[in-house]
Amino acid sequence: MNCPQCQRDITNYSNYCYFCGARQAHATVSTAPPRRLRRSATDSKLAGVCGGLAEYFAMDSTIVRLLWVLVTFCTGLVPGIVVYVVAWLIMPEGSLPIPVQSVPQAPDAPHASA
Ligand SMILES: [Zn+2]
Repeated sequence: MNCPQCQRDITNYSNYCYFCGARQAHATVSTAPPRRLRRSATDSKLAGVCGGLAEYFAMDSTIVRLLWVLVTFCTGLVPGIVVYVVAWLIMPEGSLPIPVQSVPQAPDAPHASA
């Protein structure tokens, strides 16, 4: 591809031109990872299937659970349970969020003691 500013040939999909440093147009495209359907590692009651669905569709996980229970009872228990187990087996487990490191206490901080 050609840099629109200096017209020199640069590698395809480069973010910047190595000759003039101009930012290339496609560099503004979001580099966020694609959304994946995974079991929730943080919002789970059984296996995190409903929590994962809620995260995927940006819904309240309680509503997803209530809908799942309603559909399960309306279809005669077995299909809802089978679908849940199949989803449990198929959906990969989501990763835990990166823990925030706590600030260490100063060594001369007074400790509360009885
Ligand atoms: Zn350039």
